[in-house]
Amino acid sequence: MDLGKAASVAVRSLMPNKPHHAQWLITRKCNYRCVGCNVWGEQDKNELSAGEIKKGLDLLKELGVVEIVFSGGDPLLREDAGEIIEYASKYFVTTVYDNGSMAAKKVDALRTVDFVAISIDSLDAAKMDAIKGVKGSLEKALNSVEVLRKEGINVAVTPTISQKNLYEILDMTKYFTAQGIPVWYCLYSFDVSTDVNQLFRIGKANDEFLITDKQAMVDLCDSLLELKKKNKNILMTNQLLKALRSLYAEDKRIWKCRALQNFLIIDHLGRIGGCHSHNFAGSVFDLPKLWKTKKFDELRRLYHECTQCTYLCYIFYSLHGGPGGNLSLARQQWRNANLLLQNHNRQHSLLSEQPNSIQTAP
Ligand code: SF4
Ligand code: SF4
Repeated sequence: MDLGKAASVAVRSLMPNKPHHAQWLITRKCNYRCVGCNVWGEQDKNELSAGEIKKGLDLLKELGVVEIVFSGGDPLLREDAGEIIEYASKYFVTTVYDNGSMAAKKVDALRTVDFVAISIDSLDAAKMDAIKGVKGSLEKALNSVEVLRKEGINVAVTPTISQKNLYEILDMTKYFTAQGIPVWYCLYSFDVSTDVNQLFRIGKANDEFLITDKQAMVDLCDSLLELKKKNKNILMTNQLLKALRSLYAEDKRIWKCRALQNFLIIDHLGRIGGCHSHNFAGSVFDLPKLWKTKKFDELRRLYHECTQCTYLCYIFYSLHGGPGGNLSLARQQWRNANLLLQNHNRQHSLLSEQPNSIQTAP
């Protein structure tokens, strides 16, 4: 991240009434067959061109978006992924999600990115393959982590917590963070939408993944809160862990959804929504004007009362929205900018202190 980008990020962080975060699913193609996912069964060869995506990114910048996450499908399956990532990385804190199969082959496409998130759900190779629906997934993912580290590209591991791996999450966290590899998490969730025009589907209902041992989840939150005191590589905020704890201990949501307020989602065709579970609300090419319309205000009110999902990224950006949350995110961005000013060559150590890039795996 150069100084111009750091300054621009800091300025946009302080802009009021705009989304902080956008997740762009730039492709609907995937080479994995994850058991808890609908994406691979509903692939689409149509997608925006790199030029169209760049135009959309310009509009998101104008709107004041600070963070972009590219996911899919697997975004690195696109031939032009490098061109898109390089363009986005000039302006946004940019994260790319990979299922672990592509990053090692696409190192050059990832040179400018701020973070690459590799999805690793288990250190048991057979279990990982069973979750991902393909063979050799753990070996490929670990190799991707290793290759990126050697190349000096910031890489983090992102397990999706489910009943399948609940009892190994703490050990996995210790294993990776002890090697200086940051960890953040996704939470298994599935789409319960009754909206026939749902933007797109991600999580597939599966009893084996649904967390039934709620006490173990509460204990995990407590353990991570404790571990975080001495481990800066756990990239979960205390607020998020406390919100999860409350959800599983008391069935209580201590947040209100801030879809289309603090975050938005964009699909492979450029359609935007507050999240993926509702009908699309317009086109990325109609931003930033669309953001200030009465239609969007009405949708915001609707989403504010919605309690339909527990996708972790949506919870995170809901919790950290609002004046207090935005201020803390802005402070974080300023801190990054200051660190850059002090020593802009120490890119790795700067980015490893940045906690506000927690996303839902596609
Ligand atoms: S979870 Fe990700 S990697 Fe797995 S099938 Fe879905 S889109 Fe592909
Ligand atoms: S709670 Fe928010 S993110 Fe989840 S389905 Fe409802 S509007 Fe979407």
